[in-house]
Amino acid sequence: MTAVPEIMLNNGRTIPQFGFGVFQVKPEETVAAVSTALEAGYRHIDTAEMYGNEREVGEAIRKSGLDRSDVFVTSKLSNDAHRPDDARRAFDASLEALGLDYLDLFRIHWPLPTRYDGDYPSTWRVLEEFYRDGRARSVGVSNFQPHHLRRLHEEAEITPAVNQIEVHPYLTQDDVRAFCAEHQIAIEGWSPIGQGQVLDDPEIVTIARRLDRTPAQVVLRWHIERGDIIFPKSVTPARIRENFDIFGFELTGEDVEAISALNRNQRFGPDPDKFDMVPD
Ligand code: NAD
Repeated sequence: MTAVPEIMLNNGRTIPQFGFGVFQVKPEETVAAVSTALEAGYRHIDTAEMYGNEREVGEAIRKSGLDRSDVFVTSKLSNDAHRPDDARRAFDASLEALGLDYLDLFRIHWPLPTRYDGDYPSTWRVLEEFYRDGRARSVGVSNFQPHHLRRLHEEAEITPAVNQIEVHPYLTQDDVRAFCAEHQIAIEGWSPIGQGQVLDDPEIVTIARRLDRTPAQVVLRWHIERGDIIFPKSVTPARIRENFDIFGFELTGEDVEAISALNRNQRFGPDPDKFDMVPD
């Protein structure tokens, strides 16, 4: 099996293009799921304070016996911690829960433009502190639209290394991807298989049959060939392995175009300009 490609970030560090996401993985299922993923060869884990499973992610990494430097570990700031002092406390708590002294990547989870007086630049400046003190090897954002990124560009010093946004065949995000490409911000695509809702699409099913692959593998491969970073989620061991087994085949250019043409600008998740959920 061919190795997972590494993507070069704008600060010279690299990130494995493929990883394992743990959104909606219950804490009691997390150690088993992450352990299965690490055994299958995944070396990049995407969690968040709001997923409530950082402690178990850390436990699975320690149990694996892998060196810390062999696993790319990322998390995200909770929506309830955008004020600078809260963000500092929240980052300390994330490291403590994971049992780590640094993260490979830490992000603002949502811009929350209708909360905190819309002042996400002041939150970003706190992530810059974590980057400067070395406890976050890279810092980035999530769910930022081009106009949010433009504001950071004007008011902050460090350009985010990544922007993690919803991307799948029904939401190809051409405008955000083009903006980020122009500014050397890598794209991470969340819900890469649309939480399973794109897998019955006749176009995808036809390509999968021709290649003797599953629809999930075809869609994940489509992201890889477009250059985005992805981390599908599953708690089912067979699917965790199936999703990783995408480095021994390729799509044709026509396949990639045909899947991109399925775009309907359809979000399965919230609109970043409106989303304002803050946990209790
Ligand atoms: P996903 O697109 O990875 O879909 C996961 C679901 O698809 C699973 O629950 C399962 O039902 C199904 N599935 C998985 N593998 C399958 C297979 N081989 N065949 C058939 N069905 C399969 O969705 P996701 O979990 O929403 O996104 C992946 C990761 O992205 C998350 O775990 C999280 O790390 C991240 N994420 C980030 C944000 C954000 O706001 N930044 C939001 C959502 C997700």
